[in-house]
Amino acid sequence: MERSFKKEITTLRLGDGDRFHGEGILGVTKALLQSGVSYVGGYQGAPISHLMDVLSDAEPLLEELGIHFEVCANEASAAAMLAASVNYPIRGAVTWKSVVGTNVASDGLSNLASAGVKGGALIVVGEDYGEGSSIIQERTHAFAMKSTMCLLDPRPELPTITRMVEEAFKLSEASNMPAVLELRIRACHVYGHFDAKDNIQPDYSRNNKIPAAEFDFSRVCLPPATYGQEKHKIEFRLPAAIKYIADQKLNERFDGDVPEIGIIVQGGIYNTLMRALHQFGLANSFGDCQLSTLVLNVTYPLVPDEVSDFCVGKDAVLVIEEGQPEFIEQAINAILRKKDIQAKVIGKEVFPMAGEYTSEVMLRAVHGFLYKYAPKGLDVNTALKTIDQMFLDRNDARKNLGDSLPLRTPSFCTGCPERPIFSALKILEKELGPAHISADIGCHTFAALPPFNVGNTVMGYGLGLASSAGLAPSFHKRVISIIGDGGFWHNGMSTGVAAAQANGNDAILLVVKNGYTSATGWQLLPSSLRDRHGKRREMSIEKVLRSFGVRWLKTIRSYSIARMVKALRKAMNTAEGGLKVIIADGECQLARQRRIRPEVAKRLKDGKRDVRTRFGVDEDICTGDHSCIRLSGCPSLTIKPSTDPLRTDPVAHVNNDCVGCGVCGEVSHAAVLCPSFFEARIIRNPNLWDRILWKLRRSIIALTSAKSSTVPSLCQI
Ligand code: SF4
Ligand code: SF4
Repeated sequence: MERSFKKEITTLRLGDGDRFHGEGILGVTKALLQSGVSYVGGYQGAPISHLMDVLSDAEPLLEELGIHFEVCANEASAAAMLAASVNYPIRGAVTWKSVVGTNVASDGLSNLASAGVKGGALIVVGEDYGEGSSIIQERTHAFAMKSTMCLLDPRPELPTITRMVEEAFKLSEASNMPAVLELRIRACHVYGHFDAKDNIQPDYSRNNKIPAAEFDFSRVCLPPATYGQEKHKIEFRLPAAIKYIADQKLNERFDGDVPEIGIIVQGGIYNTLMRALHQFGLANSFGDCQLSTLVLNVTYPLVPDEVSDFCVGKDAVLVIEEGQPEFIEQAINAILRKKDIQAKVIGKEVFPMAGEYTSEVMLRAVHGFLYKYAPKGLDVNTALKTIDQMFLDRNDARKNLGDSLPLRTPSFCTGCPERPIFSALKILEKELGPAHISADIGCHTFAALPPFNVGNTVMGYGLGLASSAGLAPSFHKRVISIIGDGGFWHNGMSTGVAAAQANGNDAILLVVKNGYTSATGWQLLPSSLRDRHGKRREMSIEKVLRSFGVRWLKTIRSYSIARMVKALRKAMNTAEGGLKVIIADGECQLARQRRIRPEVAKRLKDGKRDVRTRFGVDEDICTGDHSCIRLSGCPSLTIKPSTDPLRTDPVAHVNNDCVGCGVCGEVSHAAVLCPSFFEARIIRNPNLWDRILWKLRRSIIALTSAKSSTVPSLCQI
């Protein structure tokens, strides 16, 4: 895992009278335990990967409480897990990254929402929207509306977040609707404190089993029950949810002293709003605000009376709703029109329709609103002018920076085992011409960026092979599909491999096997060497492929570029039809470094010999054409000015971060580049033989060269 919460999870044992200090994601876990959940599960993905990590680290405590923890195969299986709450009064929570995870889960969610739940069912989604997001830009809101699920979007501060987790279960039980709680990335990582409560032992759990099976046809998703379920949503569940939200005051109203205008805001972006109002001198750092605000901690369903009570008598109300379409703004307009309330609703008129409402976007929009609608008695003119000037200065600064700063795109880590796969594809491209590559999701998607620009489409996690099925038969040469080991287990073996085999497709699949779901923080996979309890695993991608009838199958070390080029060439040219699979095997370098760092530290501490390999460039030989950089893209392979006064071009240079993965040497051999790379082995705690060899080498170099003084310290070159 990317991060261990071993220390922090002690706070999960706090009880009545204690004060919890910590991070949002940990607070959510504590609130789950305070709610008496019987089961938890999910599938990792930013920004809630850490929730899975916390749950995994907290397993001993979960076991004590009898709570079952399931690392689900994908989001669909996590959604299906909530079926436990359909017939039985037990509470459960699952988590995943949205909107992509919600897409995968939506079949299960539709059925769950149709059947309705007896026990509280909560889905904690990481709303990965806006700057820094790694996925397509859509919102979870549409899913909540179309499946009739409650959607909570709490104000990003710990007392509200934890209260909303607890309330979500009660809301779910009061309305029979599953509840979704969305957490933006900043909410996951916000720090704060709240008054802790005792953890609750669930009534039914692993420790106290459900005594009898329940059968209720009205809860089975099969006609005619489904017709009744839809009616139940409208006639009972929605009104019950609205009543609960209103009775328990889940939405918060803060009244100011300016009666003419007000603001309705999604809970999740309340802090950004307060910061903007602070800059206008209309709020202080503690959230005391001159303008009235209605904070929607529940964004679906809205409570019509709450909205109309807030808007009545006002000239204009600013509605702050991130993303599109503007569901909330439309709903508020409809509520006000029906009640004949004349307050103007200003939303996307001043806010951009799409994209994250960063502090700058918020400031500009609030500026636009106040400029037009601030009542006469509210003195914001000085602030408007100051902020106008600030925008002008910022635009100037941006223009100047834009000219001097290069665009810095994300890339593979230093020594990543996935990079050489794309070096091999680039080398093959020179020989066979450009290929169509159906790419997938994972670190390997970085290949679409420079220097590789490899990967023509990305259709979803695990869908690399499935996404070439339409094109491959009509394409002039074989299409290459890529899938990671995470994507393979997530769904790729069925959507891709099983389908390709069943249809007899002539296809090439490159499985990038690095042992973890690296992009989400190194969670373990079914094919990881060991499970989360340290036990050895027997599940293998090779065995699955063989059992699916794949005959053309090669496993190649990712770093062996020449062998990879050869295998790819063979797969492209062979007369053999059917599915051809190459497994590129190499442990995620970042995970490897974290794994070996303590081992190396211990070896050094014990005075044991340690050899570290790294690469370098002999600048006398470097031709300066930089083909190696274009075929590698390793952040450690860079350029520097030549020390030769007669050379004006920079030479290639390997900086000290090199982890010695060997790709530099491999790529220069496979692509027949200049022989300027050398491999150096840095020996720490050398033994007697190392010292003798070093002295011998030094003497020989001194004899044959006038530059003996430049011979480096103890190393073999
Ligand atoms: S996290 Fe691992 S797999 Fe991902 S880019 Fe870094 S080294 Fe490569
Ligand atoms: S050998 Fe080359 S590719 Fe590998 S880490 Fe060092 S500089 Fe990067």
